[in-house]
Amino acid sequence: MLEFDRFPKIDAHFHSTFYNPVYEKIAKDCHLKYININTDASVFPSMEVQENVALAYVKKAPEHFSYIASFEMQGWQDPSWFSGVLDRLEKSIDQGAVGVKIWKNIGMEILKPNDQSFLMIDDPFFDPLILFLSKNKIPVLTHLGEPKNCWLPIEEMTSERNKAYYTKNPEFHAYLHPEIPTYERQIEARDYLMVKYPDLTLIGAHLGSLEWSYKELAKRFDQYSNFYVDLSSRLGHLQMQSVKDYEGVRNFFIKYADRIMYGTDAYNNPEKLTSSLINDWKYFTTNKHCESAEINGIFKGIHLPEEVLRQLYCANAQRIYGLI
Ligand SMILES: [Zn+2]
Repeated sequence: MLEFDRFPKIDAHFHSTFYNPVYEKIAKDCHLKYININTDASVFPSMEVQENVALAYVKKAPEHFSYIASFEMQGWQDPSWFSGVLDRLEKSIDQGAVGVKIWKNIGMEILKPNDQSFLMIDDPFFDPLILFLSKNKIPVLTHLGEPKNCWLPIEEMTSERNKAYYTKNPEFHAYLHPEIPTYERQIEARDYLMVKYPDLTLIGAHLGSLEWSYKELAKRFDQYSNFYVDLSSRLGHLQMQSVKDYEGVRNFFIKYADRIMYGTDAYNNPEKLTSSLINDWKYFTTNKHCESAEINGIFKGIHLPEEVLRQLYCANAQRIYGLI
């Protein structure tokens, strides 16, 4: 049996927006490296603060910390916005950032002033940014769209976690805001980037918002050789599918072993981080009965081969983000 604390792991989707020494201790105890993801969300501090915190971690323990930079959309209509953003991103990459994050405010929040339509990621406005990322071989981590449940009434949602989240955050619940572009439109806009920029390395955070169907993900992996995903905050949706289709989900992890990265999405929450690490490990490495707050009832671990685990937990993030 593989030993949890000796198996090298990368949490490819982690958030810590203020310095907390406990993460270095957890990293040493669990043989872990984090990729800290900067994000243009209002609950996060300013991008400058996030950048400084991420760099402080990297400086303190580069063997355990890495980070992905991002940019603020604020002022995007200002003609000088682009040059400022590209300058800052270049600087971040020089300082060691391993990618750039794009967030769901694009597609779900920001309006174009001329006709009040939503600014989507496939708008030609973003061409200079995407071209810059593609040309410089900078991986782009996209959290675009939301789980499909976001467009459904609470009682029709398939996940307890989604139900709780949208009950608590009605402002993000698209079902209540019919003006927000559809789920399908969000996915279409993201997919279009991979068609238009085949050299772009695109990682869909949170299972690329295709959490509800591993078959939809498989279709994209077959279609786009530049598409990868992280599991952060959405593993429960695959566990749910494995209740009814155990072999299908297990074979999905094996067949697309080079496309999927482990990630917790723990946000300033060391307890959530450690419990996720332990529970997820049990699901992936054993065939024992597992439980999750997201799912009613018990389900069985998928006991993946060791080589698949190495890719999922470590090798993919190292290769895709060029970690050293
Ligand atoms: Zn996140």
